[in-house]
Amino acid sequence: MIAAELLTLATCDLGAIVRGRSIVSSELGEHLLSGVGWVPANLALTPLGELAEPNPFGSTGDLRLLPDPATHMRVGAEEQGSALELVLCDIVELDGRPWQCCPRNFLRGALAAFAEETGATVSASFEHEFQLLGDERVAPAFSLEAQRRAEPFPSMLMAALVEAGAEPERIFPEFASLQFEVPVAPASGLQAADRAVVLREVVREIARRCARRATFAPLSDVKEAGNGVHIHLSLHDERGRPLLYDERGPAGLSGLGTRFAAGVLAHARALSAICAPSPVSGERLRPHHWSAGAACLAAGNREALLRIPGIVSVGDASPAEQMRLEYRGADAAANPHLALGAIVHAGLQGIREQLPAPPLLERDPAELDAQEAERFGVGALPASLQEALDALAQDRVAASWFPALLLEAFVSLKRSELAGCAELSLEESCRRYGEIY
Ligand code: GLU
Ligand code: MG
Repeated sequence: MIAAELLTLATCDLGAIVRGRSIVSSELGEHLLSGVGWVPANLALTPLGELAEPNPFGSTGDLRLLPDPATHMRVGAEEQGSALELVLCDIVELDGRPWQCCPRNFLRGALAAFAEETGATVSASFEHEFQLLGDERVAPAFSLEAQRRAEPFPSMLMAALVEAGAEPERIFPEFASLQFEVPVAPASGLQAADRAVVLREVVREIARRCARRATFAPLSDVKEAGNGVHIHLSLHDERGRPLLYDERGPAGLSGLGTRFAAGVLAHARALSAICAPSPVSGERLRPHHWSAGAACLAAGNREALLRIPGIVSVGDASPAEQMRLEYRGADAAANPHLALGAIVHAGLQGIREQLPAPPLLERDPAELDAQEAERFGVGALPASLQEALDALAQDRVAASWFPALLLEAFVSLKRSELAGCAELSLEESCRRYGEIY
């Protein structure tokens, strides 16, 4: 029996689950112009598997998943098995106009607004952590043993990510049990978010091929470090020159960069609802987890929500090319397009309002008294998804970034997830989310 080669026309939904419809790969050309059918209520499906109730869509409506050929990726099959082939899609109305709840369209709009008001483009890189489950024996953190014991997974994964065009830079074991991290090269905003979607699916695919399972759940074990998604950002002018570096600025950050950072911090609590949006996400963002213990800006310090990674002066890379801001508060329950789009809107708001440069915190934010916390501009991140959703509801500026229907759908989804976990202990919720992501 010969199996067909399938290609999935895919979309990453509001709960960061990739869904779609598959066609025979050789027939892609016939679907490029009009795509395949889609249903509004698909975006009311929670990661827990139920339809959010209430939700704004109900049972009516028709949409199209319109493939973006620039995202076409394929990871070839092994001898037994099938290739992983995807094209990411925009969700559009039947006449091709963008649908207001399409996450890619949301990011596109944020990037366009940013370019229009500042003349600058946004590049990004999503740095993912995940755990490769299925080995009872845990090797020392960051050890060669941990990496070699996971073979052939790391080698196969890097080959597959290269094949998929995700431009992986490194792979290494991280601090938590069976945890790995894979940084990838920066790309333009939309491509970077697309790449984050692809990376997660390639990791899951290669884990399956190794008879293992990978989880990106924000927190697998309450006693351990979580799985973060750190979003590295840089800005460039229309000729591609970097805009975040100024040697006279705080830790080398330019005026534009400090205003961007100030905007992100001003809306940090609302951003958490979009960037760390699962019922277990808040537990990862606790002090002393090296995730993001507080909403502040720092050079170096890994307890800060926004970090300016150190500039390397050994070797020949220019400081301006290296300069970036690292947003550490996201996880893989976040849709990458929504997360990056919201961060870009927040940064743009800071530029628009010419917000003053946030102070740099070089101490442990958890050990500051109230006065010091104020002096260093240190705020608390929401401790729970409920708190984050409340913060989003109270932040009128942040709410205005979203089309009303998209915001309503997102909030109803998240409220349903909270209700779905209300009876579960934290451990049980972690287990449940470990199965989903
Ligand atoms: N695992 C940490 C997190 O949850 C990040 C550790 C690091 O890469 O600095 O974000
Ligand atoms: Mg890490």
